[in-house]
Amino acid sequence: MPLVFGWIYLVRRFRFGAVKLALYGLSPLNGCFLELMEINMRKKYTNRFYLHSLCFLFVWWLLPMERSFALVVLQYHHVSTESPAATSVSPERFAQHMDWLEQNQYQIMPMGELIKLLREKKELPDKTAVITFDDGYTSIYTNAWPVLRKRGWPFSVFVNSQHHDEKNRQYMSWEQLREMAKTGVTIGNHSVSHAHMIRMNPGEAETEWLKRSQWEIEQAQSRIDAEVGRQEKVFAYPFGEHNRQLEKLLRKLGYIAFAQHSGPLAPFDDSVVLPRFPFGGNYGDIKDFALKASSLPMPLDEVLLLDDKKRPLTDVLLQDKAAKVSLAIKADENFLQRISCFYRGEPAAAAIRDGQLIISTFGAIPAGRSKFNCTAPEKGRFYWFAKMLIKKNEDGSWYRE
Ligand SMILES: [Zn+2]
Repeated sequence: MPLVFGWIYLVRRFRFGAVKLALYGLSPLNGCFLELMEINMRKKYTNRFYLHSLCFLFVWWLLPMERSFALVVLQYHHVSTESPAATSVSPERFAQHMDWLEQNQYQIMPMGELIKLLREKKELPDKTAVITFDDGYTSIYTNAWPVLRKRGWPFSVFVNSQHHDEKNRQYMSWEQLREMAKTGVTIGNHSVSHAHMIRMNPGEAETEWLKRSQWEIEQAQSRIDAEVGRQEKVFAYPFGEHNRQLEKLLRKLGYIAFAQHSGPLAPFDDSVVLPRFPFGGNYGDIKDFALKASSLPMPLDEVLLLDDKKRPLTDVLLQDKAAKVSLAIKADENFLQRISCFYRGEPAAAAIRDGQLIISTFGAIPAGRSKFNCTAPEKGRFYWFAKMLIKKNEDGSWYRE
């Protein structure tokens, strides 16, 4: 819209010829400099300061549009009405989502291109989505692929090699995965066995656990590459569970990795803890989908996870009993006032202190996985940021799924 008004104004004001309009179309900077040069040469206009300012403002207005960074990664499991509701969207709902993306002129980016942009630390384009499916269920082949194929849209499927090796009928066959990969679908790594990877076995030493984790990642990758051809080094944590050592391991092995906390990709994201918007169960009606697909990354300077004594925590897996934790967010102070945060779906306590927004849970952190979700409205869209926490039972044992 600003572009349209800017054009109308400039065309009326300066009576641009077709060549100049084309130059403006190519780059507003080009057009502006050309105009300024001409003004200076002809010395036709007296109020040059005004014209310079107008030109500067016009370009400055356009720059945030060109530099926006709002790519979203969508996460699905089953696309079926016959699978567990919590991890399923119906074929109708899935088609609705894809229709929304098409009607709103979204670009659907292949995983390979996203990885390239992330590795080169390039800006990510607005109105762009990456579509992913976890676990390799057959409904992806039968119900989701036809919808995507007819549009020529790329997508990724994160698979557990063991499920396909065992020819479990819930999951696609290697042959089906191969068929999809031939058309540009990315087959990603979701470990060999879909284990809770952060959990050590009883009596297992840390070095043994790390070795087993590395095997889960590398063995799955070698099976995928052998069956469907060499694929991108991209990993999705089973259950979205990760800890600092796993993140370090994946970084060392050269992977990009996705978790399951919500939000669009943001410039401050760690490339081995990338957010995705999961859809299934209660999440994913068209209003919820539109809100998430159009979300923007929060312009934050720093986010720290603090323990109850306000010491920074570097791991989302809370090590000790960690009764309470809080998030400390640094950003422009006016912006901080616009943020609302929720913890496990309930409003979280928020206070601005020393230029930081401190968000805390009202009670103790329960065992299991839980999330902070923060949003701030912005011209019909929402900034979105989330942080996941993982906590063991009080007695140090693991929670049941
Ligand atoms: Zn999974």
